Formats: sequence, structure tokens, C-alpha cells
Amino acid sequence: MSRHVCILGAGISGLSLAWQLSKNNKFTPLTILERTARAGGWIQTERGDFLFERGPRTFRVKESSRFLELSKELGLENSLIVANTAAKKRYIVRGGGLKKVPMHLLVPALLKEWRVPPLEEEETIYDFAVRRFNSRIASLFFDPMTLGIYAGDIRELSMSACFPALKKWELEYGSLTKALLKKKTVKTSMVSFKEGAQTLVDALAAKLPIHYNQEVLQLRFTDQGVEVITATDSFVADHLFTSLPPPTMAALFKPLDAEISALFGQIAMRGLSVVNVGYRERQLPVKGFGYLVPTQEKEEILGVVFDSDIFPVQPYTRLTVMVKEGVSDPERAALGALKKHLHLTGTPDVIAVHKAAGAIPQYRLGHQALIAALEKKIEERFPRLTLLGNYLRGASVEDCLGVAKEAITKLAL
Ligand SMILES: Cc1cc2nc3c(=O)[nH]c(=O)nc-3n(C[C@H](O)[C@H](O)[C@H](O)COP(=O)(O)OP(=O)(O)OC[C@H]3O[C@@H](n4cnc5c(N)ncnc54)[C@H](O)[C@@H]3O)c2cc1C
Repeated sequence: MSRHVCILGAGISGLSLAWQLSKNNKFTPLTILERTARAGGWIQTERGDFLFERGPRTFRVKESSRFLELSKELGLENSLIVANTAAKKRYIVRGGGLKKVPMHLLVPALLKEWRVPPLEEEETIYDFAVRRFNSRIASLFFDPMTLGIYAGDIRELSMSACFPALKKWELEYGSLTKALLKKKTVKTSMVSFKEGAQTLVDALAAKLPIHYNQEVLQLRFTDQGVEVITATDSFVADHLFTSLPPPTMAALFKPLDAEISALFGQIAMRGLSVVNVGYRERQLPVKGFGYLVPTQEKEEILGVVFDSDIFPVQPYTRLTVMVKEGVSDPERAALGALKKHLHLTGTPDVIAVHKAAGAIPQYRLGHQALIAALEKKIEERFPRLTLLGNYLRGASVEDCLGVAKEAITKLAL
């Protein structure tokens, strides 16, 4: 029997799920509702004179990556590009200046870490790093790594939720050092597309039935199905998948179930400003992936990505400065940082500021238990609804694809 499926949100989570379902006739008809006039959510490429990404720009893939699998299914293999080897070099800011990541500090720290017994209990990233290494390693490695991925605070975020692989190594091998020595090395690469990340979204959107400019305002669940109400229309379905962000879900659930609404409300999100800066002339004094700014430096930016070094697809210098949430003038902060850290004093040929409010989920202590409680209550009380998105089990696009794949199996049961 065919089941009508409705998917809320045309970001990569919703689109990839829709693509998988569209291959299976049993689930047609399919409706995708998107608030804006475009598909892709945070994935957005600017293709003017300078190629810029407003959102994700690098995708770390292994041989068995869902990202690669999806790209191949869509016939995009020939558009894929691999990061330049120059992008292996990474920097951090120390004492106000740019320095290579201090790998030499890791060797003695790893020798100590070898002997530290594993701990089952959940702890913050900071507590994990100090317990297994020391506070210096916490500030110079774990802190910038967390800022780069989550724009978040290592003293608040959960180690097992944010970096499940590292926590698993500790528990499985006894220490990260032992894991590094014993584990089979898995080759990973960083990829994107010649024309930017939007390539993936455009290929999906061209094949899927998306209703644009349809902001979901209300949900109604009955024994027979689900009704989704937007400002201009109403759509009915047998099953609903939602990739809408937690604050929106909290509002939609307010009239339906106060407890579920409150659980969505507990999932914190953090924003940032993405400042794309372009110069026609080569500008950078160093080559690499970019740099991160540890919290102890007390600066206004999280870091800078050297886009033109990672993927040299244009003869220009393309940089992206990630500016902290709450900074009132992100353009000034970005240019000030480029001047201070990279001595770039010239006026850029292009500069564009994009505020990404509430873009990054913050997996605080207790996150996994919170998500388990939320999913359990939804399964019991609203079995026609399944959650998708970056606030569940990982913030990367690869993680979102994984959640979407898992969600299909739930429907098939
Ligand atoms: C600046 C930045 C850089 C990043 N860099 C990387 C990176 O390099 N590599 C990586 O793997 N990941 C990166 N990420 C993370 C990754 O981009 C996201 O986690 C992922 O794109 C989220 O996809 P999603 O579909 O779950 O959510 P979204 O992209 O948020 O999609 C949700 C969709 O729902 C729509 N919507 C919202 N409300 C409603 C409503 N009421 N009704 C209808 N539709 C609605 C939105 O318009 C949107 O299209 C980055 C994220 C950001 C913000």
C-alpha cells in the first residue's frame, strides 16, 4: 500500500531522505515543504566573480562515505574535487599571532595519556581533555577544535555527544594513544565540488517535488494521518519527517504536547557570522587550511578558512572569517583579525557578511539522554512523526545523511 510522506525542510537532511524515498515507489506520493524560495538550508554557494560558501565547504569522506555514495547516485563524481595537500597545514593564534598547531606538545601528553584509565561517565570536553591530558592541551587543541566545529564552549559541551569516535576509542582501547597505535588507519580525504557545495543540493532539488515559500505554521495529528498547515495551504500525509530546527519544533509542539515542546526547547543552538572576503591579488603570507583562535585569546572571531588554498579553483584569494555570535560589526571584526593575524591591510575586492542565527546545535552535557527521551515520547505519542537534522546525532553533513538513512528504516518497519 502506498503511503503519502511529507517532509518538512529542504536542507540536506530533508532532501537526502526524499531522494532515498523517491527511489521506492511504495512511499510515493511525496511532498517537501520549504519556508524559503530555495533548497539547501545552510548549504549555499555564491557563484559571482568569486566562488564563496556561506555554509559548509569541506566534506571529510572515507571510502564508505554517505556523501560520496549520494554524489555518485546523482552522477556528480566528475564534479568532485579533493582538497589541495597544502591544506594539511593548520594554524592557531597564540599570544595574538599566527603559529603552527603545536604538535610537539602532544608527544609528552600522549605518553601520559597512555596510562590514564578510561571513564564511562559522561563529562564535558574540557574535563575529558584535562583528565586524559592537561589543561594546556585542553586550551590549545580541544578548545579550537570545538570552536571550529560547534562554535561552542568546551566547558559546557559533552565529549561523548560531540566527539563520539574519540570517546569510543577511550572505552574500546583504554586510551587514545593505544587506539592510535592499534587501530587500522582509515584513509580520509576532504572533498567538495568544482562549483561549490550547492552542486549537491541543486542536483537533488532538480529531481524532487519541493513546495517553496511554504512556512509550516501548525501541525494536526489524527488517527488517520497528519495535517500540515502553512500560511496559504494545507497538506495531508500518512507520515511526517521533520528537519525543522528545535526552536521551530518547540513552537509547533506548544499547543500539542507541552512536555515534548519543552524538550525541544532545551536543545541550545548557537549562531555566528560568516564573512566572505575576496582579493584579486594573492595575499596570504602562509599556505594552509586556515586557523582557529583559542578562547583564551579573547578575540571576536572563531577562525579563518583559506578557501582558495583548500580548493584553488580560481586565481584569487578567497577567505572566510567565522565571527562569534553577538559581535555587533562582523565586517570590522573580520578585517581587524585579517590585519592583525595575516597582516592583510589592503581593501578587499569583495566582502559579504551573512548572519547564521541559531545555525549550530550545542550538544551540552546530557544531550544524548535528552534526545533519547524526546524520540521515545514522540514514538509513543506521535508515531506518525520522525525527526531528522543536525541537532540529533552529529552536526556535519555526513552525520545528517546518516540520520536520514536511519530514519527510513524506522518508516519501513
Ligand atoms: C557556517 C557553517 C559552516 C559549516 N561547515 C560545515 C562543513 O564544512 N562540513 C560539514 O559537514 N558541515 C558543516 N556545517 C554543518 C552543516 O552545514 C549543517 O549541519 C547541515 O547543512 C544541516 O542540514 P539540515 O538539513 O539538517 O538543516 P538546515 O540546513 O537548517 O535545513 C532546514 C530547512 O528547513 C527550512 N525551514 C525552517 N523552518 C521552516 C518552517 N517553519 N517551515 C518550512 N521550512 C522551514 C529551512 O529554510 C531549511 O531549508 C556548517 C554549518 C554552518 C552554519
